[in-house]
Amino acid sequence: MKIDSRTADRVKYLPMSQSANPSRTYLKLDEATEQLQTKLLHLVGETIGAYGLIEDSDKIMVCLSGGKDSYALLDLLLALQRRAPIHFDIVAVNLDQKQPGFPAHVLPDYLRNVGVPFHIEEQDTYAIVKRLIPEGRTTCSLCSRLRRGILYRVATELGATKIALGHHRDDILETLFLNLLYTGKLRTMPPKLRAKNGRHVVIRPLAAVREADLVRYAELRAFPIIPCNLCGSQEDLKRQDVKELLREWEQRSPGCTDSMFAALSNVAPPLLLDQRLFDFKSLRASDRTEGHEDAWLDEHHA
Ligand code: SF4
Repeated sequence: MKIDSRTADRVKYLPMSQSANPSRTYLKLDEATEQLQTKLLHLVGETIGAYGLIEDSDKIMVCLSGGKDSYALLDLLLALQRRAPIHFDIVAVNLDQKQPGFPAHVLPDYLRNVGVPFHIEEQDTYAIVKRLIPEGRTTCSLCSRLRRGILYRVATELGATKIALGHHRDDILETLFLNLLYTGKLRTMPPKLRAKNGRHVVIRPLAAVREADLVRYAELRAFPIIPCNLCGSQEDLKRQDVKELLREWEQRSPGCTDSMFAALSNVAPPLLLDQRLFDFKSLRASDRTEGHEDAWLDEHHA
């Protein structure tokens, strides 16, 4: 038995996050919310099933930042948990990085109302980042590294078997293009990854979900969003550029980002150049009809 899109389709009710009742009151959702939730659960269920993200007896540590993506992730996983044919546990974890003005009560209040086990880890990474990064420089890279290390430790302490992150389809495409344009690598954030230390498995159940749908879902569900600019850092400018580029392409050629995303699951190593993925040197003509058409000759006559 496993989770898939059919499990997701059976889920129609969610706890009301605004309820003051800690006993997880379930209310019927209004029609617009239910329709969007059904769509999102279907996508999440499909991703979980296709990549084997959640298995029986898993303990999923859901990383909650206070942003729309992680609220939606937790909300949807809780909905799936209630109907899944397997048993898995969820623990929500927030890292309070001691940014000035961080409203420390918001997440605990929300999580108590929802009735999910949670842990708030307090670590003053803000002070470390401020001390080490010169004024005016982007601090996200160091901050993320510090956060990752802390979250891995917390996952071990909590006995979590998987760490769930709220990255979505747009994050995945942006990261793909950032790597293409600036690092010479064809790679992005996969739905499932074994961490470099080998001891942790990171999962991204929202991998197939569009950011625009998460924005809408957060509005409909009235998540108590915590602003992400409390640290005063500028958003990564290169990522902003790529985001804008993708938005322009989509406007000019509707559906092209769907095509890009589909391409990530439709890779043909013999039609690329990576000798580690395909043995070009041993390639010889043969009687077998298993070759590939040459796209360049087909579509671009010299
Ligand atoms: S925006 Fe601030 S808190 Fe977020 S990763 Fe960057 S430095 Fe860290």
